[in-house]
Amino acid sequence: MQAPVLVLNANFEPIHVCNVRRAIGLIMAEKASLVMNGRGEIKTVAREFPIPSVIRLQKMISRPRPHLKLTRREVFRRDNYTCQYCGRGAVVLTIDHVMPRHLGGKHIWTNVVAACPQCNHRKGGRKLDESGMHTLRIPREPPSSAYYIFSRHLDENMDWEQFLQGW
Ligand SMILES: [Zn+2]
Repeated sequence: MQAPVLVLNANFEPIHVCNVRRAIGLIMAEKASLVMNGRGEIKTVAREFPIPSVIRLQKMISRPRPHLKLTRREVFRRDNYTCQYCGRGAVVLTIDHVMPRHLGGKHIWTNVVAACPQCNHRKGGRKLDESGMHTLRIPREPPSSAYYIFSRHLDENMDWEQFLQGW
């Protein structure tokens, strides 16, 4: 019941991910319809119910353009799970503030990169130019497209791809 369900707006724009329990609640309340049933059936007292994988809201809802929250997981994903100093695909990654926080560096997309523990340690609390190191790419805010935002679910929900394409 906790499996993720992709929620589409009435115009098919992907807007949200909820769990199966919530999705079935929306369908029963006739606020959403089943678009794809990829998870078999669930038996309730009254009836057998397809377990949704994708649902679509009956009424269009307007919402602000989604923005990606700055989380460790999303920084690692943006940086391809690669240390941005040495380029190694490290199993263990840390977050490095390019301009250290104690020197006024902010916790924003353009000031954080994935770094392996060794590089993080080597850079220490220094500024980039003082450390003699450089980042492989200039850190930027990732795209705020629905495709990018929800594509982190694609590994486990390949069937969502067709609904994310183009958004
Ligand atoms: Zn490194």
